[in-house]
Amino acid sequence: MFQAFLIKYGEIGVKGKNRYVFEDALVTRMKQVLYHVDGTFQISKEQGRIYVEAEGAFDYDETVAALQRAFGIVGICPVVIVENDGFENLAARVVDYMRNMYGDQKKTFKVMTRRANKSYPMESMEVNAALGERILDAFPNMSVDVHHPDIMLHVELRTKINIYSEVIPGPGGMPLGTNGRSMLLLSGGIDSPVAGYMVAKRGVYIDATYFHAPPYTSERAKQKVVDLAKKVARYTGPIKLHVINFTDIQMYIYDQCPHEELTIIMRRYMMRIAQKIAEDTGCLALITGESIGQVASQTVASLAATNDVCHLPVFRPLIAFDKEDIVTIAKKIDTYETSILPYEDCCTTFVAKHPVTRPRIDLIRRSERALEEKIEEMVAEALATEEIIEIR
Ligand code: ATP
Ligand code: MG
Repeated sequence: MFQAFLIKYGEIGVKGKNRYVFEDALVTRMKQVLYHVDGTFQISKEQGRIYVEAEGAFDYDETVAALQRAFGIVGICPVVIVENDGFENLAARVVDYMRNMYGDQKKTFKVMTRRANKSYPMESMEVNAALGERILDAFPNMSVDVHHPDIMLHVELRTKINIYSEVIPGPGGMPLGTNGRSMLLLSGGIDSPVAGYMVAKRGVYIDATYFHAPPYTSERAKQKVVDLAKKVARYTGPIKLHVINFTDIQMYIYDQCPHEELTIIMRRYMMRIAQKIAEDTGCLALITGESIGQVASQTVASLAATNDVCHLPVFRPLIAFDKEDIVTIAKKIDTYETSILPYEDCCTTFVAKHPVTRPRIDLIRRSERALEEKIEEMVAEALATEEIIEIR
């Protein structure tokens, strides 16, 4: 029944003169998500509206699912577009529409006409009343409720006429590419994929860095991170995944530093290295999946100690989230099942029995001095031997 969708977008409507930048970014993203869907689509911008029109047969469910991954879309309205060829024809089309959508169910409705085309010969109130009457005549089980109707029937009088009553929720957020690029520290856990998704939802392109420590972490653990990146990329677009071999650095810290400070010092080196890659690749900020109090390395004092080595902004979108709420999002974006696969990550291999929970930054800095001799060289080596995996 539907060959087209009317796309509603929220916040981007209020960006004044830059509005077209946001609209263009949204259209670009819509083309990307629709690229893999069965069907040929035309996307057009008209009078502050974006339409998707399918040429010939297409997979409706896949189309809707794809559009639900394009940040910036607030609502996806399957729309019937008809010629503006007189009220009688319009009324017939509207009655057809109602029959196809709802049969003669016992439902209440309201007609909402918008007269964008000011030369239309009837006022919108007149159209509401006249169409309402035709619907009541055609479907004896239906009745009008202007306050809380089951069906809100939108009739938009434009060059052509748009008829729709269903608004399928979109993902919200801002179109990708309207807010630069940031570097996600991506582990195999539940949190960091969700963190990346959340920041991307605000229009930020994502690249990722993963620290692995072979042979302490397996190829399967790395593959799991690649799989997670693929799932996240369905929403965020292509991700460049930088895989850093962290083994030597980790061993060196293990040998030289107090074991209860191991995790914090390791995390400081992860941040330093990710920050270096970020700067070299044009990323404006770092993203982590940290959340206050979740583990010893995420107490407020530990976060402060980790943050001490960062000069780029660090986005921690999950900072005040409970695990349960993070899991809900992980399930929604389909990363959860992959995240809970049991492969070890490099933090679990080297955890101390009693890690510090209130690290003092001055003491941590002092402990790091034991690394002075070789660490810079090792970091340079880790950067020089990075593996880059293009995730699409
Ligand atoms: P997650 O579920 O995201 O793994 P977590 O609860 O296991 O988080 P930590 O292991 O303390 O917490 O890691 C905190 C954050 O540090 C992660 O959310 C992630 O952003 C980053 N991180 C941890 N381990 C790695 C790694 N091996 N490679 C890249 N980033 C990592
Ligand atoms: Mg982890």
